[in-house]
Amino acid sequence: MLDVQDLSVRYGSNIALDQVTFSVTRGRLVGIIGPNGAGKSTLLKAILGLVPIAGGEARLQGTVLHEVRERVAYVPQRAGIDWDFPALVKEVVLMGCIPTMGWLSRPGREHHERVQEALERVGLSDFARRRIGELSGGQQQRVFIARALVQQADLLLLDEPFAGVDQYTEQAMLGVFEQLRDLGKSLLVVNHDLGEVVRHYDDILMLRGRVVAYGPREQIFNQDNLNRAYLGQVALV
Ligand code: ADP
Repeated sequence: MLDVQDLSVRYGSNIALDQVTFSVTRGRLVGIIGPNGAGKSTLLKAILGLVPIAGGEARLQGTVLHEVRERVAYVPQRAGIDWDFPALVKEVVLMGCIPTMGWLSRPGREHHERVQEALERVGLSDFARRRIGELSGGQQQRVFIARALVQQADLLLLDEPFAGVDQYTEQAMLGVFEQLRDLGKSLLVVNHDLGEVVRHYDDILMLRGRVVAYGPREQIFNQDNLNRAYLGQVALV
């Protein structure tokens, strides 16, 4: 489904990503892990074409990804979102319909139903008429996941969706991710924490500017690879 080939990104003289190559098939839940500054956020942005690419490319089912951008949903890090935005929760989620609806047409009943259904799936059906800025961080993140659901994308890129969310919410979000995976969608999830959540990924992409290791979690998530990615600073428990 997704083919990333020799993708490189430079910020000035700093090489953030160096010839990153990997492929993801349909129906995979992929965790991206690596130390601070490893290029995890940059990788998602580079796949989407949100940062200038120094080399390489990303393709979705054979087509250069920026040409089929509407088939990819992106949930940025919370710090990357303008939370003073005065919109209502349901309006933010409704934006996910734009790629299939067009900018100029008015949303119909079907779109509003899709929004309500998505909010239910992330446990926020009572929050539809609240202003997004009034919600907690974890709730705001879930609003953006609901928007990604409404978009009916084939590929979802999520940047640290579990940062600062409680365990109950984490479980609920993992449940949604697993359902989407089982529907044949693929998800790339940047995961800062190496805790319990890692066990839910099918595949792990370990990053440190370059791909340190990539493949099925049972084969990749071991002390040897962690030593290479984190230079011996973390121990597997
Ligand atoms: P991670 O998400 O793994 O913590 P990032 O992708 O945020 O890593 O950053 C990778 C590298 O690129 C780091 O060295 C970081 O300082 C640098 N970097 C990230 N964004 C920018 C930017 N907008 N301008 C300059 N350097 C950046």
